[in-house]
Amino acid sequence: MQARRDAAMSVPQEAIDAAMAAADLYVASRPHPDPIGIAGAAVEAAAPLIAAAERDRIYALLGSDHYVIFTEDRWTIEHTVECRLSGHMHECGYHTAVSLIAAEFDPAMAGRWRIDGIGSDGLPDMVRADGPPA
Ligand SMILES: [Zn+2]
Repeated sequence: MQARRDAAMSVPQEAIDAAMAAADLYVASRPHPDPIGIAGAAVEAAAPLIAAAERDRIYALLGSDHYVIFTEDRWTIEHTVECRLSGHMHECGYHTAVSLIAAEFDPAMAGRWRIDGIGSDGLPDMVRADGPPA
């Protein structure tokens, strides 16, 4: 019984509410309930809520920071998963901001940097991020 309770705690409250409403409908429709129809309606109501919660969990797990890596012959942006899935990565403002400072290789810039934002001058606000994640 403990496992069921733990599983329920990882499900969004809206999904639990949808399942409970289906259970109430089942009880209210006795003696001729339509369990398949009721279960289907509950799953359809809960599915987008569960998907949204899972998407948020994955974004949180994978991080929401952009990074840039400078090497002698190139620079590369590490976009967030959300940026990559947006369909607009080619318009990413961080890419544009880094391009403004990356015309020539500066040995002092070699390595990995976290991009914390874009200043009013359009340039990236960066913090060195070499080494393992914190
Ligand atoms: Zn991006």
